[in-house]
Amino acid sequence: MSNIVIVFDFDKTIIDCDSDNWLIDELGFTDLFNQLLPTMPWNSVMDKMMMEFHANGVTIEEIEKVLHRIPIHHRIVPAIKAAYALGCDLRVVSDANMFYIETILKHLGISEYFSEINTNPGYVNEEGRVRISPYHDFNKCSHGCTLCPPNMCKGLIIDRIQNTISEVDKKRFIYLGDGAGDYCPSLRLRERDFVMPRKNFPIWDLICKDPLLIKAEINGWSDGEELEQVLLHLINKIMMEEHVQFISTDCKLQTLSIPVLESMPKALSVRP
Ligand SMILES: [Mg+2]
Ligand SMILES: [Zn+2]
Repeated sequence: MSNIVIVFDFDKTIIDCDSDNWLIDELGFTDLFNQLLPTMPWNSVMDKMMMEFHANGVTIEEIEKVLHRIPIHHRIVPAIKAAYALGCDLRVVSDANMFYIETILKHLGISEYFSEINTNPGYVNEEGRVRISPYHDFNKCSHGCTLCPPNMCKGLIIDRIQNTISEVDKKRFIYLGDGAGDYCPSLRLRERDFVMPRKNFPIWDLICKDPLLIKAEINGWSDGEELEQVLLHLINKIMMEEHVQFISTDCKLQTLSIPVLESMPKALSVRP
């Protein structure tokens, strides 16, 4: 196990579109969705849309089939598998919902690589209808963050993950995202962490307004190929740094022996 925690947003980061929009457009409910959107929060509209799908005879199997066809860049799954093989702790923090994310990750054969999925609850009820509810119940109380939508503050989730991990371990985070909702968690990262914002997406524009507000190192990416290259480069860089630190504390003034050097991780080949 390495000391690296990688936190992935889901929509437009792991998959290459917005899962709600994909499902609505593919099932032909775009007009109804656009009518409802100005009247209630996004999360509530989606629960209502699921009711409409059910009322119109759309089955769970049909919904799953549409989710299985969701666009994903061909380098994303290999990038996730490589990060896992290198011992990184992978997590999802997403404003989509559990039903979509589990359905898609299982279909891609990568659900077991993630130690945790933080998202809006989503499940199939006894009537065979998908129910979606907010991660934070904003009708009871507000999460208090003005940067984030009422149903989810990803910054609070990052706080919780940081708090559950022992400070002694000095875990280093890599956070990947595209949306405005990924800006708040990016502000919570520390100097030893990394943020990977998707170039020319809302998080990128927010960071560019005042990059000095971000303590973590900023590394942009634009598609799945670049995501893979940058992510593996950062993992490799962290592992080399940690190894150098380990050696310098363990064998301070001693001459390094050949076996020690040989046990250091080799640089990963990153395609140009
Ligand atoms: Mg996103
Ligand atoms: Zn927030």
